[in-house]
Amino acid sequence: MIVQLAYVVASGLFVLALMWMSHPSTARRGVRCGEIGMLLAIIGTLVRHEVVSYELILIAMVVGAAVGAPMAFLMPMTAIPQRTAISHAFGALAVGLIGTAEYYKHAATAGSGSFVMYALMFEMLLGFLTCTASVIAFAKLQEMMTGRPIMFPGQQILNVLVFGGAIVCAGLLIASPETTQVFPIFVALALLFGVLLVIPIGGADMPTVIALLNSYAGLAASAMGFALGNKLLIVAGALDGASGLILAIVMCRAMNRSFTNVLFGGFGQLAATAAGGKGEDRVVRHLSPEEAAMTLENASSVVIVPGYGMAVAQAQHKVSELYQALTKREIDVKFAIHPVAGRMPGHMNVLLAEANVPYEQLVELEDINPELPQTDVALIIGANDTVNPSARDDPQSAIAGMPIIEADKARTVMVMKRSLHAGFAGIDNPIYYNENTQMLFGDAKEFTASMVKELSGGGGH
Ligand code: NDP
Repeated sequence: MIVQLAYVVASGLFVLALMWMSHPSTARRGVRCGEIGMLLAIIGTLVRHEVVSYELILIAMVVGAAVGAPMAFLMPMTAIPQRTAISHAFGALAVGLIGTAEYYKHAATAGSGSFVMYALMFEMLLGFLTCTASVIAFAKLQEMMTGRPIMFPGQQILNVLVFGGAIVCAGLLIASPETTQVFPIFVALALLFGVLLVIPIGGADMPTVIALLNSYAGLAASAMGFALGNKLLIVAGALDGASGLILAIVMCRAMNRSFTNVLFGGFGQLAATAAGGKGEDRVVRHLSPEEAAMTLENASSVVIVPGYGMAVAQAQHKVSELYQALTKREIDVKFAIHPVAGRMPGHMNVLLAEANVPYEQLVELEDINPELPQTDVALIIGANDTVNPSARDDPQSAIAGMPIIEADKARTVMVMKRSLHAGFAGIDNPIYYNENTQMLFGDAKEFTASMVKELSGGGGH
């Protein structure tokens, strides 16, 4: 009874956590709520009568904490996508291993076509493939292997054969659970399919893939709930599965890409080839930090558009100082947030919140765009694709149709980045060559720091 009550409360807390995490102002509360829900779920599980050995559970908890705690404290914000990937790999491995234990427990007794076997096979297929797929996603993002799509002739056929083979094995095991010799082949094929699924995807597309793998892990946990008769796992897994899928859909929409294009498009490959090129003989204007600071000082409205470069440079604290220096001079400063700026959803929100920029100043794409034509200065800090006008103006562009922040419509546009190189999509950006654009060449952190110094050093007018 107490266990069931703990599970019901935990399920409610997970739903509230998801609801609160969807807005920056309530996100912290959402995280706390999810943590309390998870604690309740763990306590509820520990007081169940079926627990065989508390000693073993304690050892597992100590080992888990010894790996997890340093990861949480030591990995930087920019490494969150790969940290999430490796956490998924562990979670999915746990799902697969529990499924394995349950399979051997039921192999002799479960009859042909039993519900438990269906649930277990589904759960293990998703669990094992998510495990290896997440390890590959981690390795690509951590640059332990090439981030480029790995493609070879006959790849799709091999994928179909391996996945088909795993399904056939699962079918055999459902029909005759006692044929234990098929089981290792099933596991090996599921593990191999996870690798094959992710190697053709470019490193930069990994965040979308991770959201999708999150969804698979959730579905696997939900299936495990059915196999174990654990209602909390069913609910929590379904929430995880649905939210992962919704996140992946939101990300694809914001990039105007389809799932198939992300999974089979080899998109990251473009980056190395299409960049640079025709832009080099066109005229670009550029400003020094002093000149840029002066332009900002003379503005009455500024919209800062952050992007991946701000994350790479870890410039968020300097950007926050710039925001303060400008607001002190009664300049109206807002931040334009593109849903896929950076490399993970909410990347800019997280960084700016960390630097204590008030979240009311963060404005979504559809709300800031109508304001930009009346804005004195749009200051783009390390953003590129998300402000590329060719997405709007050139139907032939690789990013045609992707919603952009229309920074080019501001009276003056300042673009802070190190060179004219392309961003994630690997395409040229005409905004650099517009007459109202000034390039601010340099590292985002250093350049912003110099501007702040200039503004606070009383270089004012
Ligand atoms: P981009 O990736 O388009 O561009 C980032 C720019 O930052 C680069 O052009 C680079 O130029 C510059 N940069 C890199 N390091 C520094 C530095 N130290 N200082 C200053 N500038 C630097 O970024 P956006 O945020 O505009 O766009 C994100 C892209 O990622 C989109 O194409 C989106 O579709 C994609 N994406 C986003 C996901 C998400 O969830 N957010 C997930 C998957 C993909 P330079 O080298 O010249 O300095």
